[in-house]
Amino acid sequence: MKQSSIERKRMSSKAASGVPIQRVLVLGAGAMGSLFGGLLAEAGASVTLVDINASHLDAIRQHGLKLVTDEGMRQVRLGACRPEEVSEVPDLIILFTKTMHTSAALQGIRSWIAPETRILSLQNGLGNGELVARFAAPDKIAVGITTWPADLCGPGHVASHGHGKIRCMRLDGGHDAAFEFMEKMLKEAGLDCTIDPLVSTAIWEKVAFNAALNSICAVTGATVDGIGKTAESLELALGIVDEVLSVARADGVEVDRERVAGTLLHAIEHHVGHKPSMLQDVLAGRPTEIQAINGAVVALGEKLGVGVARTKALLALVKLVECA
Ligand code: NAD
Repeated sequence: MKQSSIERKRMSSKAASGVPIQRVLVLGAGAMGSLFGGLLAEAGASVTLVDINASHLDAIRQHGLKLVTDEGMRQVRLGACRPEEVSEVPDLIILFTKTMHTSAALQGIRSWIAPETRILSLQNGLGNGELVARFAAPDKIAVGITTWPADLCGPGHVASHGHGKIRCMRLDGGHDAAFEFMEKMLKEAGLDCTIDPLVSTAIWEKVAFNAALNSICAVTGATVDGIGKTAESLELALGIVDEVLSVARADGVEVDRERVAGTLLHAIEHHVGHKPSMLQDVLAGRPTEIQAINGAVVALGEKLGVGVARTKALLALVKLVECA
């Protein structure tokens, strides 16, 4: 039977070429999506940024993406469009919306998610893989964390300084050639990616860090170093870390309290003047990721009978600040 042109476009390029991943679509091209998309495009990948921010898309289409890293400033040419303008099946979707926008964003490109399309989520919080699993099979989804930082400085302009890592794993714990190709591709773009069977540990430890620092800063307006100014705020932050890690252990995930407390104390000492993303969202009047962080911990903690009073108090306060 003869194929229509739309059917041909809906065939993945993998099927056409035998190379596991050719077309990359970055869904949610804010700070992180632009950084990842820019670095992958610079390394030779075929990348399209998909977002709903018209001024950001216009700037990228006109001038390319202004990418500023420790390697310097450059303009990177790559595709940029709105969800309804997507016209090809991607081999890999890198999901970088905020967690509360995941479902709407995937819904917006749903007809382009083919059975063989891979989806990678490195978003903060818990439950990202389960959300994505409404749109793809578990063996096509990878989840993890990244310690790369990024800031959107203006339309078409992203900056990232320092070095970060990616740790990820297929949602069903399996391996395959496309997944390994993705790891290699990210490494070649300088993004330092490791497939890590202990990714749940990394996810939970990052959630513990964020549940403490992000929520306290969002409610008080303190910058990260500000949390170290009183013994009480420091005790509160470490108390939230302990609660989150207790929930992780009750859920069967091994976590290291000393490692998380060490990272937290290092951030308080060194990240002087830094406003975590949740505080930035509150200051800009945007919704925060509190539900995927403190909210998810509280829900699971209560289900498993683990005390989460401090984490729950911060959840209530951030929600109140969001609607104030
Ligand atoms: P961001 O707000 O800068 O970018 C999110 C983008 O998603 C925005 O450009 C927004 O317009 C877009 N978006 C929203 N709804 C959409 C839709 N329906 N369709 C398409 N695009 C849509 O956020 P970010 O800072 O890049 O963070 C993304 C994720 O990465 C979050 O989960 C965050 O916690 C995590 N993260 C961020 C950093 C960082 O330094 N920024 C570091 C590690 C992890």
